[in-house]
Amino acid sequence: PAAPVTVTVTGAAGQIGYALLFRIASGAMLGPEVPVRLRLLEVPAAARAAEGTVLELMDCAFPLVAGLDVFDDPAKAFDGANVGLLVGARPRGPGMERADLLAANGGIFSVQGRAINDGAAGDFKAVVVGNPANTNALIAASHAPDVPASRFTAMTRLDHDRAVAQLAAKTGAPVSAIRKVAIWGNHSASQYPDITHATVDGGPATDLVDQSWIAGEFIPRVAKRGAEIISVRGGSSAASAANAAIAHMRLWVHGTRAGDWTSMAVPSDGSYGVPEGLVSSFPVTTAAGDYNIVQGLDISVFARGRIDASVAELASERDAVKGLGLV
Ligand code: NDP
Repeated sequence: PAAPVTVTVTGAAGQIGYALLFRIASGAMLGPEVPVRLRLLEVPAAARAAEGTVLELMDCAFPLVAGLDVFDDPAKAFDGANVGLLVGARPRGPGMERADLLAANGGIFSVQGRAINDGAAGDFKAVVVGNPANTNALIAASHAPDVPASRFTAMTRLDHDRAVAQLAAKTGAPVSAIRKVAIWGNHSASQYPDITHATVDGGPATDLVDQSWIAGEFIPRVAKRGAEIISVRGGSSAASAANAAIAHMRLWVHGTRAGDWTSMAVPSDGSYGVPEGLVSSFPVTTAAGDYNIVQGLDISVFARGRIDASVAELASERDAVKGLGLV
C-alpha cells in the first residue's frame, strides 16, 4: 500500500472546510489508493467545531483515513505536512479598508509561512483558497525562505471550471468536450477568463461564439459568479470552491490530461510580461508533482489589456503588503 500523505487544512471548521474534508478523506484528491493523515487548523474559538467535524469524519469510517487531529497552533498543524490547503482567512468586515484586510491576513499567512518553513515535509505543496488568495500566497511564500516559492500557489480553478461550464452551456457541448480554457491574473473581479485558445470538440471555441458574448456576457458572468451564487443561494459558493481546491491539488499531483491544461495562480517567472514573483494565474500543464506555465500563446490586444489590468491590481496588493512589512 502507498505511504500516507499528511494533509493540513486551515479554516477547517468553515463552510469550505466542511465541503472539503469528507472528499479528501474519501480519496477524491489524492486517489483511491492513498491513505491520508488529516491535520486540521483552526483559530481557538473554532477548534471545538472542528472537533465536531472530526467526529463526523470518524463516523464515515473512511478506509483511507490514517490520522485525524485538530490544532490551534500552526507550528503543530503543519508539522510533517506534504500538502496544505490554506482556506482560513479573515473576511472583510463592515467598514474594513483594503489595507486592514491585507494586514489581518498578513498576520495569518506570515505565521503559517514560517510554520511551513520550519516543519513541513520536503515535498510540501500549498494551494491558498482564503482571500485575497494570490497575495496571501505571496505572503506565506516570503515567510518560508527554505521552501521553493513555486510550491505556494493560489486557486483559480473555480474560475476555470466556471468558464468551462459557461462555454458548455452556451455552445450546448458537454463539459468533457471542452479544452484549454484559461484564467489569467488575480482571483478577483479583475481576472481575465480566456477562451481564445479553447476548443470545443476539437474545433476553435471562437468559431462558435462571438466577441460581443465573450466581452459582454461570458467574462463578467465568470468574474462575478461568486456574487451571483450569494444572491441566488443566500450563501457563498462553498461546495464548488471545495471541489475546485480538490481539482487544483489532484491535477498538480497527478497531472493534466494530454491536450489540455488547468489554471493556477503561481509565482510568475516573467512569462507573458507578468512581473517576476507576482502570484498570478496562468494556464499550466502539470505532471508528477510539477507544473509549467504554458509558453508561446498568442496574446491579442484585447487579452493584453485584460491581463495587464489584473496584474496591475496584483502589483498594487503586493505594494500594499510590502508597505506593511509583510513581504
Ligand atoms: P469559507 O469557508 O466560506 O471561506 C474561507 C475563505 O475562502 C474565505 O477567505 C473566502 O473568501 C475564500 N473563498 C475563496 N473562494 C471562495 C468561493 N468561491 N466561495 C466562498 N469563499 C471563497 O469561510 P467561513 O467563514 O465559513 O470559514 C472560515 C474559517 O476559517 C472559520 O472557521 C475561521 O475560524 C477560520 N480561520 C482559520 C484560521 C486559521 O486556521 N489560522 C485563520 C482565519 C480564519 P471571501 O472572504 O472573499 O468569501
